[in-house]
Amino acid sequence: ILDSLPAYIVVLDPAGEIEFMHQNTVEYTGATIDEHRKWKNTDTIHPADRARVVQALGHCLGTGEDCNLEYRSKRFDGVYRWFNSRGRPQRNGNGDIVRWCFLLVDIDVRKRAEEALQRREAELTRANQFMAIAQELSQTGSYSRVIETDEQTLSDQMYRICEFDPKMKVTHEMVFSRIHPEDLPAVEASWKAALEAGTDITIAYRFVTDSGTVKHFRTISRPELNVLGQLTHVGATQDVTEIKRVEDAGNQARAELAHVARVSALNALAASIAHEVNQPLAGIVTNASTCLRLLEADPPDLEGVKATAKRTIRDANRAADVIQHLRALFGRKEFCIESLNLNDVAGEVLTLCSSELQHRRVVVQTDFAEDMPVVRGDRVQLQQVILNLILNAADAMSGIYETPRYLRVETCRDNTSRACLSVRDCGTGIDPGSIEKIFDAFYTTKTGGMGIGLSVSRSIIESHNGRLWATANEGPGATFVFSIPCEFSPMPDANNPGAGLDFDQFSKKE
Ligand code: ADP
Repeated sequence: ILDSLPAYIVVLDPAGEIEFMHQNTVEYTGATIDEHRKWKNTDTIHPADRARVVQALGHCLGTGEDCNLEYRSKRFDGVYRWFNSRGRPQRNGNGDIVRWCFLLVDIDVRKRAEEALQRREAELTRANQFMAIAQELSQTGSYSRVIETDEQTLSDQMYRICEFDPKMKVTHEMVFSRIHPEDLPAVEASWKAALEAGTDITIAYRFVTDSGTVKHFRTISRPELNVLGQLTHVGATQDVTEIKRVEDAGNQARAELAHVARVSALNALAASIAHEVNQPLAGIVTNASTCLRLLEADPPDLEGVKATAKRTIRDANRAADVIQHLRALFGRKEFCIESLNLNDVAGEVLTLCSSELQHRRVVVQTDFAEDMPVVRGDRVQLQQVILNLILNAADAMSGIYETPRYLRVETCRDNTSRACLSVRDCGTGIDPGSIEKIFDAFYTTKTGGMGIGLSVSRSIIESHNGRLWATANEGPGATFVFSIPCEFSPMPDANNPGAGLDFDQFSKKE
C-alpha cells in the first residue's frame, strides 16, 4: 500500500528524530536515513524554508498539535520541489505520544500555479491602478454595454465624469436622457447606424449632469462579443469640456482675425482702385472739357480735338490697365491643371473640415461612385468650391435641432460621362424665387455673409467648362450640384484660365 501511494511517508520519534523513511522518500532525496537525520544542518529543506519548518515542528512536538507545513524539499538532482507535509501524533493507552507519522505530498505544480496566479493578480491590480490614474488624468471613463440585456459596467472615472452615484445601476435610457436635447437626434442616428452596420462609433455631444452642468463628451465605442457570445459595445468617453473651451476661444479669435483681415483686404482693394483710377478719370474729364472748348471755338480747332480725343483714349486705357493690374494681383494666376478624381478631391475636403462639421453637429453621409471619370482641373479651386458648398450647407442647418443635421455628399458619372458632385442638406432650403439670385455676387442672407462664395464657385466651375446649379429638395433643404466634363473634353484657355475669377464674374455682369 505504501509503495503505491503518490506520497512519501516519514515517521519521527516523540523527540522528532527520524525513525523510519519509506523507500520512495529515500529515492526522491537520494540521501540515506542517516544523512536525513542531520536535516536541520543541511540543505535537504530549502534554506529559505528551514527555520520556519524547525520552528513549526518544534511547536507541534511540544504541544502535540497536528502539523501542516509547506516547504521546498531537495530532490536527488538538486532541484527543489514544494511539498505539503502533514503529521499527526500516535499515542499509547496513557495518551503519551509514541511516534509521529508524516505524509508528504508533492504540490509543486499547484504551488507554482498559485504563485503565477498571485503574480498575475498583482500585475492586474497594478495595471488597474495605472488605468485608473490614466483615466483620471485624461478625464476618460470606460464602459461596456451588452446590447441585448443592457447590462452596463462603468469604470470609476466614468461614474465620476457622468456624476452618477457609484451604487446606481446605469441603463441606456438613463444615459440618453441626459444627452443634450439638441444633440440627441444626431447621437441616436449615429448609434442606430453603427449598430446596424456593426461598426465602430465616434460621437461628440453635450451631456447634462443631474446638477445641471453641461459637459462636452466624446465617445468612441466598438462592438465585440463577450464571453457568452453576446454583442457588447466597449468604449471610452472623454470629458472634453476644458479642451473645447480652449478650442472655442481659439476659433473665436481666429474668426475675428479672419473677419478683420477680410475687411482690411476689401478696404485696401477699394482704396487702391480709387487711388489708381482717380488720375486717369480726372484726365478723361479734363480732356472732354478741352474737346468741348476746342469745338466751341470759331472755327473749331479740329486738330486740337483730335489730339485731345487721343489723350482721352490713352487715359481710358490707363484706367483699364489699372483694373487689369489689380485683377492680376488679386486673382490666382497659376492655374494648375492635373488629372483628378472628384472622389479624392471631395474626400480631402471632408477630412479637412471634419472637426468643424463635428463641432457643428453635422452628420456627414457619403456615396461616392466607383466608376468616376477622370477630370482635368485645378485641385485647389475645386476644393474651394466643395468646401464652400459644404460650409453653406452646414450654415443652412445651424437652426435645426429636432432632427439630425444630415449632409450628404454624392458623386456620380452622368449619362454624358461628366463627373458630378452634389451636396445635399436638410436645412432652411431656398426660396424658388431666389434660386438664381443666390449666385449673384454680394447676395447674402447671412448677418456676417459676404455673398461671394457661390458666385466665385460658379466662376470656377465654368472655367472648368462645367455647370453649377441649385435645386430645392422635395423635403427640407437644398441640393447643390456641379458637373464637369471628363479628361478628354476641351480644356479652358491654358494661358489665362481662371485668373481673377471673382473679378471676371463681376465684369461679366457689367
Ligand atoms: P455667403 O455664404 O457669404 O452668404 P454665398 O454666395 O456662399 O455667400 O451664399 C449666398 C446665399 O445663398 C447665402 O447667403 C444663402 O442665403 C444662400 N445659400 C447658399 N447655400 C445655401 C444652402 N445650402 N441652403 C440654403 N441657402 C443657401
